[in-house]
Amino acid sequence: MIEIKNCPVCSATTYSKYLETEDYFFSNERFSLVKCTKCNLVFTNPIPELSKIGDYYETDKYLSHNSGSSGIIGTIYKKVREINLKNKYSIILKFKKEGSVIDIGSGTGEFLNYLSNRKWKTKGIEPSKNAREFARENYNIDVNEESELSNIPNEQFDVLTMWHVLEHVYNLDERMKTIVRILKADGIAIIALPMVDSADSLQFGKYWAGLDVPRHLYHFSANTFETLAKKYNLKIIDRYPMKFDSLYVSWLSHQAMKHSLSLLRGVLSGLKSNLKANKNSNYSSMIFVLNKSS
Ligand SMILES: [Zn+2]
Repeated sequence: MIEIKNCPVCSATTYSKYLETEDYFFSNERFSLVKCTKCNLVFTNPIPELSKIGDYYETDKYLSHNSGSSGIIGTIYKKVREINLKNKYSIILKFKKEGSVIDIGSGTGEFLNYLSNRKWKTKGIEPSKNAREFARENYNIDVNEESELSNIPNEQFDVLTMWHVLEHVYNLDERMKTIVRILKADGIAIIALPMVDSADSLQFGKYWAGLDVPRHLYHFSANTFETLAKKYNLKIIDRYPMKFDSLYVSWLSHQAMKHSLSLLRGVLSGLKSNLKANKNSNYSSMIFVLNKSS
């Protein structure tokens, strides 16, 4: 395990205990979260060695979702995925009508496939070999492993997306610099994150599925993410809630608590969380749109 000495956002050296939680979905190992006393970032500490983190990912999970899960859950999953794709694309269209997009953490490629079918030039970055192969074979997507990022020339993309990915990235500083470097001067970055100060996070506490330790290294709020963005001269120009996420995350959280009727309870808790959320800040998950501040 690696002990983090400096806050990943502000480099401060002091932090306080935030909570103790568990990897409820995979290893059942215990992990601690701490809160930076200077910038309030909540982060997992200590974290597994980089060479060990792969052991905490169930690499076939994505694929099982895609390979025709049947029944009511499969139908709902596909419907929600379709709505999510439409919503994501409608956000892009508010800022850019055409051009090039890089999706970092492109998974099995559905989002990039949706865009390439609409004449966008697409590129994916995905650490999972199985997911890369799935995207190539099924959608003919240009997708590479993470090391490819350093080969990309400056100012290449109109749009850069990271859907629930930044919280997994080991070298946050390097990744933020890369984002700024490969984005065109007038490009936009769209970053979606779980919100640690959301109503459902506060309701479920250590059982909140959005903590997802040890895979999530940073647990952002809108404020701490803004602090991070400013450090790299990125400006948040718009933000959107991901309302389905609170339902899904609440369902998983009830499962972590070993509650019966977890799906039904999850839907109810998720709806309650959406009602409680303040407009544009602390939904279960938020999408932030950023540009390079001039
Ligand atoms: Zn800090």
